[in-house]
Amino acid sequence: MTSLYRDLLLLIISTILAAIISLFIGHFVYLLLIICIVYSLRQAFLLHQMEQWLKAGEKSNYPTTYGAWAEIYYYIFRLKKANKKRKKQLRQIIEQFRQSTAALPDAIVALGEHDQISWFNNAAKNTLGLRKKDTGQSFPYLVRTPDFIEFLSNKDPASVLSIKAPTNERITLQLKIVSYAKNAHLLVAHDVTLLKNIERMRKDFVDNISHELRTPLTVLKGYLETLTDMDDNHSALLSHSLQQMNNQTLRMQYLVDDLLLLANLETTKTQHKCVEIDPLLKQVCQESSALEQLNSRIELFIDTDIKIIGDAQELRGAFSNLIVNALKYSAEDSIVTVQWYLSGENLILDITDRGEGIPEHEIPKITERFYRANAQRNHETRGTGLGLAIVKHTLSRHDAQLQIRSQSGKGSCFSCIFPKQRFCYSFSDK
Ligand code: ADP
Repeated sequence: MTSLYRDLLLLIISTILAAIISLFIGHFVYLLLIICIVYSLRQAFLLHQMEQWLKAGEKSNYPTTYGAWAEIYYYIFRLKKANKKRKKQLRQIIEQFRQSTAALPDAIVALGEHDQISWFNNAAKNTLGLRKKDTGQSFPYLVRTPDFIEFLSNKDPASVLSIKAPTNERITLQLKIVSYAKNAHLLVAHDVTLLKNIERMRKDFVDNISHELRTPLTVLKGYLETLTDMDDNHSALLSHSLQQMNNQTLRMQYLVDDLLLLANLETTKTQHKCVEIDPLLKQVCQESSALEQLNSRIELFIDTDIKIIGDAQELRGAFSNLIVNALKYSAEDSIVTVQWYLSGENLILDITDRGEGIPEHEIPKITERFYRANAQRNHETRGTGLGLAIVKHTLSRHDAQLQIRSQSGKGSCFSCIFPKQRFCYSFSDK
């Protein structure tokens, strides 16, 4: 029998008893009223007892009683016990998480809705210089560089920002924003000092070696030119050797020049001027045809007069590389089309040739340094394998992209795509 039935049975027995007593003394209604009052008082007392017990929290045991109330106490007690256990487990998990993130070598800062700092680990104290009192503060007030403020407001998970550590100028940090809940973000700062140092050493090495090679090459070339002039074609072997030596010295010179150009692109800041593309392209097309000693087979179409914000010298170099390639890797009687036009939100330069094209699997590789597709043919054509790496680098300095479409045997189309933020509508230099 359940406790509820037991309580009901008690009520029925009390009523029957009242009825029996009322047979002797009468006043059945009064007796019933007394039973109801006693019953209600008991319920009120038990409710009060439960309230006291719940208020006391987990400190006291549940009161002993009988009937339905005993069962209610028991079930609430069981729920409380399970809750207590779950809370303990959760506390342990949170503690473990805090300990592990605190021990991470990367600085981690949890940011709230308005970029206020809600939590940070030990590494953030050491590298970002955060203190306990900074909790609740807004991050932009702590690090005031415009780059950082823009990076934080954009919250682009794909972008990274390199900054000097506020606590130590010699440490370079790479920052990333990770979103983990609605309006909640993690700022992760990774120490990339070693990588940056290795990268700088590599650049310095290439830069130095290129500079050092320049002088001996110039001397060598000078002597070779003198010897070639002195050659009276008596010995075919000597003439051939001089020719080969001249060609290889020239090749090395191109290589050194391209390496220095790349190093320059990596280290110097680009100019921001309004560049008129129309005259620039006309000049490049003329020069390219002359340079390659080829008949003018370039068709130039200029469909827009919108200018580009950038560096004229760098853009000239990149466009020239692409146009010379188009001439170099296509038949001497085929047409190369150069087209400058506006398409939607972008300005595009298409350089299309009807040459040999590039095998599909080689397209992603040809912008890598020193990569030359079609190895056998490339043995014969002059080149350093650095041209497209220079183009790609120059375009990325102008927020532009290089798109390559090509079909083996049919030709290639190299597109330089400039975004809207690079458009320049003014007539004077910016
Ligand atoms: P290179 O000095 O060899 O021309 P680039 O970096 O300019 O170096 O080009 C890399 C390789 O990409 C070239 O060796 C060539 O195989 C391929 N390539 C570039 N442009 C074209 C083109 N228009 N048509 C076919 N192949 C091309």
